[in-house]
Amino acid sequence: MQSLDPSDATDLRALGHRMIDDMFDHLETLRDGPVWRPMPETVREGLRQPLPRDPTSAEAVYQDFRALVQPYATGNLHPRFMGWVHGGGNPAGMLAELLAAGLNANLGGRDHAPIEIERQVIAWAAEMLGFPADASGVLVTGTSIANLIGVLVARTAALGPSVRRTGAGGSGLVAYTSAAAHGCLPRAMDMAGLGRDAMRMIPFDDNGRMRIGALSRRIARDRALGLRPFLIAGTAGTVDTGAVDDLAALADVAARENLWFHVDGAYGATAMLAPSLRPVLAGIERADSVAFDFHKWAQVPYDAGCIVVRDASCQVAAFGAEAAYLRREQRGLAGGGIWPCDLGPDLSRGFRALKVWMTLRVYGAHRLGEVVRQTCDLAAALAARVDREPALERLAPVTLNIVCFRYIAADGDLDRLNADIVADVQEAGIAAPSTTMVNGALAIRAAIVNHRTTCADIDIMVDAILECGLARAGAACAGTGNKKPPVMHRGQVYREASRLGDVGANDPLPAAGAGTRAASLP
Ligand SMILES: *Cc1c(COP(=O)(O)O)cnc(C)c1O
Repeated sequence: MQSLDPSDATDLRALGHRMIDDMFDHLETLRDGPVWRPMPETVREGLRQPLPRDPTSAEAVYQDFRALVQPYATGNLHPRFMGWVHGGGNPAGMLAELLAAGLNANLGGRDHAPIEIERQVIAWAAEMLGFPADASGVLVTGTSIANLIGVLVARTAALGPSVRRTGAGGSGLVAYTSAAAHGCLPRAMDMAGLGRDAMRMIPFDDNGRMRIGALSRRIARDRALGLRPFLIAGTAGTVDTGAVDDLAALADVAARENLWFHVDGAYGATAMLAPSLRPVLAGIERADSVAFDFHKWAQVPYDAGCIVVRDASCQVAAFGAEAAYLRREQRGLAGGGIWPCDLGPDLSRGFRALKVWMTLRVYGAHRLGEVVRQTCDLAAALAARVDREPALERLAPVTLNIVCFRYIAADGDLDRLNADIVADVQEAGIAAPSTTMVNGALAIRAAIVNHRTTCADIDIMVDAILECGLARAGAACAGTGNKKPPVMHRGQVYREASRLGDVGANDPLPAAGAGTRAASLP
């Protein structure tokens, strides 16, 4: 007999305990290490092996993880990771992953407690958004898929369930979003078979918000062409600058034009947990569907995206399963009403909900909202510092937690210079901002998402950018072109930087007290 469970688990148990201790050590000391380090070719080579035919001890495999994987991870745990929009994760969510894998539950359907946990998480999401309590939803990998589900639900609502048999070819469906929207929205139209050209990219104003007049005119023009407008997708927190569309105005247009109103709130929707930020998102509670991520601003470990649909019957109409072997019963394991596989494209699904449930309960919605507000305060402080520094120029208004700016030099290619500065700072391990284009200019983009980031971290990043900029601009004047400046020797500077970082080290997130039953948003 070949069971994979050990006859004597003593060693594996001990290893498991050590893994947990090691990972807590890692979390406690990561501030002292580099944000990110490039992966040496030898390490990459070390990971390439043929299909392992014979067993290797778990101890040896774990040593490989420690040596070859852990040191070369993305870096988003680190307080000075400010690139893209990455969540920082949290220890309660980490432990939940262990428990979820232990239960190995399949949340496609059937009648069991893990599905009740996911239903609870969806109810909390609905509560956060100001949606009715009977709204439906599922957890998915991320907002890319959640947006796709939103488009498919809106499509079925527009054309009726028969579209699932006939397809939407020739239906003339067209949708509207901001030119500042995330690329996954036009891609969702592509994947839905409607074509990305059918996603009209409406121009945005100086604050990065979709122009309402331009939207109304485009809808009228499409109708005049005999096309069939069906969907407006607003954005709460654009990926480039963090702008939030005027969601109430979009809700008005959608109501007037009888269109589905979807909101991509990938990270921005989480601002609903911060009372002082809620007014910025006013109108989101009127959406027909909202896509967002728990793995960004809500700090749940990857991956955890979410789609919530106001009218559950619309979501079931778009995805309800009919296969005979998925037959529902009134009693037994095949009971339990609407299953998650009736609400999205996945059949087998893991217990993603547990890490969301544990994160929300252990820290509480209030505390998570405080983290969101704190990162916005840090972004405001960064913007103020940028505005004070003569060598820096801010390139976009700051709505939430993203600051776009650049280093300015008297002459030369500023786009090249700023891209080099960002790569210098990343490779030195000091900080990890990223870049984007704002009004045709390459911007250094700092998205403050991590609950560990402090004021000191912001200053360390700005100091490093100024230092690299000066070294590079000076080098360019001396005619040495884009050569890497000597000041940034990897491994030296970050240690200096992290020593400084300790000064303002953040308190860890305290566990919220109380509450054994969590019926409403904790
Ligand atoms: C991150 C992001 C997405 C994509 O979400 P994933 O979870 O990466 O799939 C979509 N829209 C916006 C505005 C985002 O910030």
